[in-house]
Amino acid sequence: MPKSQMNTTLNYSPNFDVKKRRVREVKFIIFHYTGMKKENQAITRLTNSKSKVSSHYLIKNNGEILTLVPDLYVAWHAGVSSWKNYKSINKYSIGIEISNPGHEHSYKKFSKKQIKSIIKLSIYLKKKYKIKSNFILGHSDIAPDRKKDPGEKFPWKYLSKNKIGQWHYLNEKKLFKKRNRIVDRLEKNKFIKNLYKIGYPKNILFNKYKYSKLLTTAFQRRFRQELVNGIIDQECLFISNNLAKNLK
Ligand SMILES: [Zn+2]
Repeated sequence: MPKSQMNTTLNYSPNFDVKKRRVREVKFIIFHYTGMKKENQAITRLTNSKSKVSSHYLIKNNGEILTLVPDLYVAWHAGVSSWKNYKSINKYSIGIEISNPGHEHSYKKFSKKQIKSIIKLSIYLKKKYKIKSNFILGHSDIAPDRKKDPGEKFPWKYLSKNKIGQWHYLNEKKLFKKRNRIVDRLEKNKFIKNLYKIGYPKNILFNKYKYSKLLTTAFQRRFRQELVNGIIDQECLFISNNLAKNLK
């Protein structure tokens, strides 16, 4: 197999925009979980014209990679979403669904074979479309008001060792000591400001308090997976400071 080729199984979905996009328009990789009890149900849904949803790839429990939509067509996976100055992320992204029942149906660990395939596919896409590390994101990052996937079991830290996605380089023991330590009003504001700087969406439809809680939860699922409670503490603040400072 030549190195530039990915070994995937074709299983096309009719759910995509007819207009083809340019290579340089592909700027993001977005990860999802399928959130359905059975893998087959998810595949059926993503390839059924009535569902109006799809993704470019689906990674099965056994690590097999399905191609549902070719890269240069816009698949329908992200919905209302934004990151930095980009809105409607479908237009600019490759969507990868990973088979997992999700929070609604006994959320489970991603399998080793799935993680191996995630890494292989991401490295391939990153190179092919010159995708920046901090443009490799989860659905909940770009739609924190609506989405939980791929969730706090998604191996972001492990992936970052392969330069997939942004991560912090802080000492874990020091971080742990800051967990659950309260922050004052100024620090809360600083945390939210950091998140906007990193790229998280602003949202004027929600009240400020409620949205701040949703944003914090999304941030924790991504960067502080051991405790997801929607409460800003010193650990969250510290991580966000580090990420905001080290943006590429
Ligand atoms: Zn999703």
